[in-house]
Amino acid sequence: MTSKKIVVITGASRGIGAATALLFAKNDYAVCVNYLNNADAANEVVGKIKSMGGTAIAVQADVNKESEVQKLFEVVTEQLGVIDVLVNNAGILKPQAKLIELTEERVKEVLTSNVMSYFLCSKFAIRHMSTEFGGTGGSIINVSSAASRTGSPNEYVDYAASKGAIDTLTIGLAKEVAANGIRVNCVRPGLIYTDIHADGGEPDRVNRLKAKLPMQRGGKPEEVAEAIYWLASEKASYATGNFVDLAGGL
Ligand code: NAD
Repeated sequence: MTSKKIVVITGASRGIGAATALLFAKNDYAVCVNYLNNADAANEVVGKIKSMGGTAIAVQADVNKESEVQKLFEVVTEQLGVIDVLVNNAGILKPQAKLIELTEERVKEVLTSNVMSYFLCSKFAIRHMSTEFGGTGGSIINVSSAASRTGSPNEYVDYAASKGAIDTLTIGLAKEVAANGIRVNCVRPGLIYTDIHADGGEPDRVNRLKAKLPMQRGGKPEEVAEAIYWLASEKASYATGNFVDLAGGL
């Protein structure tokens, strides 16, 4: 158990999640680094936090499965305490394709993988945070994407639609739990240098497209982490159901 504030970050073994974990730890949060299958990478993030004198645990869970989310929150409560902040960050990207090429299997996978965990993790976080259930409040940050605004035609309309669902979830949930001390906000990154683009079949995608961005460059995971941290902090105490776009002007 810790006296620090506690944050759970899904899919935090690399990319935006890992940068967010390090930033919260620097700001004296105890951090739960959730990961799906790369224990070494998750333990590396935990190791970095511990070497800075911070508190962190790595917890494996497929956050799209309710039973695993339940266990994740049990472990966090047992080892750290009651959660203050949830960062719904886990997501997947599939290789580029037009809609007419998409299979039922792929669309189901993308929609489920990118949306289900945001519902399930929020549900368990709210049970701990909500003043309705004896909690002291908290903050949920959803990581959506600029794709929810652009639609990503000819590339990933399935991914874009999944992120649109996250935007709408943010608005509805923010209103649902506002009176119970919980704020729900969202960041929408544009092109960020992470390995998700390799999973999408084009490791160098950000460099290929950066000249089309008004700022002429891709973003760093740390630049997204800063906005997530700000939204979670007391400095954003009157912000709920809001969006921060971090897309270099896209
Ligand atoms: P990333 O691939 O490095 O991180 C995503 C992480 O989520 C991975 O570690 C992956 O293993 C994990 N994950 C996926 N499904 C999971 C599951 N069921 N359970 C637990 N973990 C799971 O990519 P990233 O760019 O850091 O992405 C983080 C978030 O930011 C994603 O939601 C992504 O859609 C969003 N995003 C990224 C960009 C970008 O350009 N990189 C742009 C907009 C939005």
